[in-house]
Amino acid sequence: MENLLNAIVINKSDEIPYSAKFDSIDTNSLPDNDVSINVLYSTLNYKDGLAITGKGPVVRSFPMVPGIDLVGEVSSCKTDDFQPGDTVILNGFGVGEKHWGGLAQKACLSADWLIPKPAGLTAKQTMQIGTAGYTAMLSVIALEKQNITPESGDILVTGANGGVGSFAIYLLNKLGFNVVAVTGRPEQSDYLTDLGAKQIIHRDEFSSPGKPLAKERFAAAIDSVGSHTLANICASLKYGGVVTACGLAQGMDLPASVAPFILRGVSLIGIDSVMRPKADRIEAWNRLSSLVSAEHLDTISSEIGLNEVIKSADELMAGKVRGRVVVNCQN
Ligand code: NDP
Repeated sequence: MENLLNAIVINKSDEIPYSAKFDSIDTNSLPDNDVSINVLYSTLNYKDGLAITGKGPVVRSFPMVPGIDLVGEVSSCKTDDFQPGDTVILNGFGVGEKHWGGLAQKACLSADWLIPKPAGLTAKQTMQIGTAGYTAMLSVIALEKQNITPESGDILVTGANGGVGSFAIYLLNKLGFNVVAVTGRPEQSDYLTDLGAKQIIHRDEFSSPGKPLAKERFAAAIDSVGSHTLANICASLKYGGVVTACGLAQGMDLPASVAPFILRGVSLIGIDSVMRPKADRIEAWNRLSSLVSAEHLDTISSEIGLNEVIKSADELMAGKVRGRVVVNCQN
């Protein structure tokens, strides 16, 4: 029994159709990497939902333990980077896609992928933030680097009730920006207002094919939706406006024209959290540590055990989940 650990395992082969289940696996079957970790918490991101339900081609090899982020305690490390007892964070690097991930009691990862947990956050808080909050922070930092300030004007945030969107609203509001939220769930307006949104717009206004140029309304935007929404945002930005693009909740296409770029000097900045260099990760996590409050994190997240992950992934993909789902991997 001692050599077994609980994990979510995804399988597919010529004989077996795509399946994900809560299972017990042999500890010796963990990959042979530098750092052995007792996983404390992981989370359920959109990408994990795609992987677990098989609704998107996220998993590159089988069997796979999903989970694109985790926080855990180092039990042993073959390099000088970490000591037993250190608490480390992992976001991305193909973990949960091509390397076994965080939805398990233990993980074995490369030291290059890990950063130390910021002192100002508890282990659970780092996963209440998770890849969604970290990506929202990278997006906010990208706007700041383009000299967008609260004086620049209104900032639009799409996918407002989602993980990235809800964090983007919270962080921008904390930094003094006037945030306009775009959502398909206006019944959640109170939640978005509590997060800091000053105005709420229905997503229908942005989701259909639009004109190459529209009225100049927003100084900047953080988009996690893509497709027509991103095209319409580009068309609605003020002269010199900036939009960050990190997601594809509406679609992977970008049916836009060059008009906003060549006539209004608009900038489109891509945000990738997965392969981001270590220095940027540490900057983003330190900023998060100074900006988020424990009360906020408790309000926006719920906790489940590993054995509830499959059901929650279905709910996430059905658009029934609001905020962050933290997975207690030792429970
Ligand atoms: P969530 O599922 O938590 O949120 C997505 C939100 O998008 C939903 O809550 C909904 O918000 C909105 N939405 C859903 N479907 C549509 C649609 N058809 N049209 C318009 N809006 C829609 O996902 P996350 O916030 O975790 O991730 C958002 C996106 O960002 C995903 O595509 C994800 O893969 C990507 N991502 C990319 C990263 C990167 O490194 N580039 C890192 C993290 C995420 P509402 O109900 O308010 O309308």
